Amino acid sequence: MIGVSCVIEKIHASQPLTHEEVTALLSTNDTAVWNTVYACADLFRKKYMGDAVHLRGLLEFSNYCIRECAYCGLRSHNINQVRYRMKPEEIIDQAIRINTYGIKTVVMQSGEDPFFTTEILCDIVREIKSKADTAITLSVGEKTFEEYAALRTAGADRYLLRHETASPELYNKLHPDSRFEDRIRCIENLFKTGFQVGIGSMVGLPGQDETDLAKDILLLQKYQPDMIGIGPFIANPETPLGNDKSGTIEMTLRMVALARIVCPKAHIPATTATGSIDPLGREKALRVGANVVMPNFTPQHYKIHYTIYPNKRCLDEEGSKCNGCIRAMIHSEGRTVSTDYGHAYRLTHNQNG
Ligand code: SF4
Repeated sequence: MIGVSCVIEKIHASQPLTHEEVTALLSTNDTAVWNTVYACADLFRKKYMGDAVHLRGLLEFSNYCIRECAYCGLRSHNINQVRYRMKPEEIIDQAIRINTYGIKTVVMQSGEDPFFTTEILCDIVREIKSKADTAITLSVGEKTFEEYAALRTAGADRYLLRHETASPELYNKLHPDSRFEDRIRCIENLFKTGFQVGIGSMVGLPGQDETDLAKDILLLQKYQPDMIGIGPFIANPETPLGNDKSGTIEMTLRMVALARIVCPKAHIPATTATGSIDPLGREKALRVGANVVMPNFTPQHYKIHYTIYPNKRCLDEEGSKCNGCIRAMIHSEGRTVSTDYGHAYRLTHNQNG
């Protein structure tokens, strides 16, 4: 039996944690223990990443998807989903517009949409790079090593590919058309092609317990990704998991704090999903290790249809309003808004790890 106080001592000493230790920690509901963990995570965030919060302008450019992820409203079998696909010129114009708000990263996200071939995506990336002073993050799913390499060569800086859950059994169950080992191979290929890489997971998935969540933390500790996205599972009635219970804000915050502790130099967003299950979810995440927020700049008439989960935060707001609201929220937390690109720590501090 692991003593939680020993785990806290290891956290203070920045020592690697074991699966057993993280499981023991996640299994306690002792408020004093968690307040100590949160304070430590906030301290690590401040020490390594500072007080500035990075803004990433999100552009959800297509909600077509060939995949069948059991939790996602964009899964191809969801015939009730209204589909849209932005034109390449629209994507480029909107990316330039994001940049005019002083935001130096555009996150291009979509379902796995075969219309957007690697060639088309490369053209879009090149065009944005030639017209705007911005970093580009792609979040467009699983591809071959050669495709990732081409996108990197075209000028994309970063790539988000969440591992979703580090439990292979749970992953394979929730992704009937995909295998955990393929996901991991894609993530490793992304590192090899020179991207700044973001991974991350969902909290509160049906069938997920503390030992599964501890595997997520251990995976983060092993790979030391540049970015980590953690958000709660939110049940979508248009999916096979529609009747399951959603994840909780408490467990999500615990996972964000532990992610900061095992990866002190990662960029960690206060995710929209976290703000969707709790009106103050993003503020709370910023207090326990997060240092990134992603205002949504998807044009309004498309945004309402990007429904991976229901009751998404800020769906009724234009990007400019979302941007203003997020900046005010960051300042109210006593933090500042970064004016730089917010590249990976290992690049800005000339380190390899
Ligand atoms: S999670 Fe991504 S890959 Fe899976 S169905 Fe949804 S959009 Fe497609």
